[in-house]
Amino acid sequence: MYTTEFLDIPPLAGAHGTVTLPGSKSISNRVLLLAALSRGRTVIHDLLDSDDTRVMLAALAQLGCEVTQAGSTTVTISGLGGQAPRSPARLFMGNAGTAMRPLTAALAVLGGDFELSGIARMHERPIGDLVDALRQLGCTITCTGVEGYPPLRIGQPALRLDAPVRVRGDVSSQFLTALLMALPLAGHRASMHGEAARDIVIEVVGELISKPYIEITLNLLARFGIAVRREGWQRFIIPAGSRYQSPGEIHVEADASSASYFIGLGALVAPGADGQGIRIQGVGAASIQGDIRFVEAAQAMGAHVTSGPNWLEITRGAWPLKAIDLDCNHIPDAAMTLGVMALYADGPTTLRNIASWRVKETDRIAAMAHELRKLGATVEEGADFIRVTPPATPAHWKTARIHTYDDHRVAMCFSLAAFNPAGLPVRIEDPKCVAKTFPDYFEALFALAQAAPGRIPVICVDGPSASGKGTLAGQVAERLGYHYLDSGALYRVAAHAALRSGRSLEPENEPAIADLARQLPVTFSGERVLLDGSDVTEAIRSEEGGMNASRVSTMPAVRAALVALQQGFSRLPGLVADGRDMGTVIFPSAPLKVFLTASAAQRAERRHKQLISKGISTTLDSLRADLEARDTRDSTRSVAPLKPAADALQLDNSALTIEESVETVLRWWQDRQPFGSS
Ligand code: C5P
Repeated sequence: MYTTEFLDIPPLAGAHGTVTLPGSKSISNRVLLLAALSRGRTVIHDLLDSDDTRVMLAALAQLGCEVTQAGSTTVTISGLGGQAPRSPARLFMGNAGTAMRPLTAALAVLGGDFELSGIARMHERPIGDLVDALRQLGCTITCTGVEGYPPLRIGQPALRLDAPVRVRGDVSSQFLTALLMALPLAGHRASMHGEAARDIVIEVVGELISKPYIEITLNLLARFGIAVRREGWQRFIIPAGSRYQSPGEIHVEADASSASYFIGLGALVAPGADGQGIRIQGVGAASIQGDIRFVEAAQAMGAHVTSGPNWLEITRGAWPLKAIDLDCNHIPDAAMTLGVMALYADGPTTLRNIASWRVKETDRIAAMAHELRKLGATVEEGADFIRVTPPATPAHWKTARIHTYDDHRVAMCFSLAAFNPAGLPVRIEDPKCVAKTFPDYFEALFALAQAAPGRIPVICVDGPSASGKGTLAGQVAERLGYHYLDSGALYRVAAHAALRSGRSLEPENEPAIADLARQLPVTFSGERVLLDGSDVTEAIRSEEGGMNASRVSTMPAVRAALVALQQGFSRLPGLVADGRDMGTVIFPSAPLKVFLTASAAQRAERRHKQLISKGISTTLDSLRADLEARDTRDSTRSVAPLKPAADALQLDNSALTIEESVETVLRWWQDRQPFGSS
């Protein structure tokens, strides 16, 4: 997840490949409970791994279900079938509403001795409407704290199924979902007590909100053998004789609204050389989520979409996209993505019946209009519609800093503006707001997208040993959300690998060391450096490791062998690279090159402090002599001698704090960006 102040997305030119979306939260917890109530074993794939699902899994295990996990997203549950849950049980539900409500209903109907509680906030979340409905039915529930709120104590019921159960629908659709999932158990229980099987009727009082979520519930119930009949959105009938039966295996769908960004992406980008577009794993066109109908809107704009169980594949069709005029009431969240796709259309696109946008995370109509205008679109907005006319020509596109209003969907949909034909970067402010539904959204995008050729930003920080390059470059990378390359570590690892394989660092071994370097199995894992999977961090960071690196770095064949490896670090969204020749040899066209220096005395003193803190004793004089020797070797070697690139900016940090150096470089960087000062 990007926690930076902003994220600059360089101009993007293409994208292809497969993205696997995380499972939907609302489907995950419903499926867990249904599997637990069913007869037979259910293998659940693609389960969302989150706080809410962990709470549910723990509760089910406590209640006597056999739960086995394979990895974090596949779980097998042996359902209770007709058996009573293990009792007594005290269940801790944390703050997981999607676990608390349906479990309460199911346990109240099954009966036993249960206590359900949560964190303090959970005890402030009302559950009275559900408790009332369950009491009408003959369930025994006591609110042990405040009436209408958890914690709850549940006893044995004396079920009365003759009259319809009435529940309010205008507060939370979760209460109706909880009843729909619990009542099939009541019918089963009654028939075990010798009563004649009968239909069970639920009546909704008031206008039912969030109908798409009830549709998800009904769909999942059908997968588990319960065919609920529905009369409008007012009456729901569970047929006599209904009984939960495991479907054996079930895939949890990914969140369909999250899929919209990748469907939009597929509609925008030229396919890969083999005609491959964007494949989305986790949700298919037969999805039970309302927002899947975004697919139809994307098709209307020109996208080609194919689909199978749990996957979608999108390739670009009409180009430019076709402008549309669409009633978006059925896909309010996903429709925001259409607003950005409209920038690439052949005329004005109108999105209608979206009044609900005004009362979401932010006033989404105002927000979309404002941000789309920044990019050069002409936008008309009304109480319940928005009309987007794209920039007339590529030259009419403008560089924009997209404000995101703490609204995950604004952040995600505007990333698609980086494919603009003008080749402009796009700045997304506060990118971490995507965490609400998709913490790794930008990582997923960058894994598919390619920057326009030569447009991945690289900042080079070169300079002599112990000038503080590593610290500076690492911090600049962190502030910008860029990757970081410590090129010195590669020379250190190359020397280490040579010595480990029994070769000395003498000149005659140059070809062999170069061969090793060319296929160096090195990986960086945070601060740690791994060679062939084993941690060599301490070994290469020693003073001796530095001296050895300096020796192999004078070998032209070794330097050449490491070029491609170093250039491979330039990946989206950008790179900060430190070393000796980043600006002169490896990334000669980098837009910012910094040459960092400090006096030899200063550098010796810093290194001295560092070593002392590690408990290594040494003298200032010997350190200074070593540094000067290394400087001489680095700057007089025949290949890539240490010297500032002609276009490098010099920074002498002898008298600067780290923060001051970082701020200076960030300021230089900002000055070279087209975004203006923030
Ligand atoms: O930066 P660091 O001290 O880790 O580098 C170790 C040695 O590797 C340096 O003294 C230098 O001789 C060599 N080096 C190089 N070119 C780079 C990075 C490091 O020659 N780009």
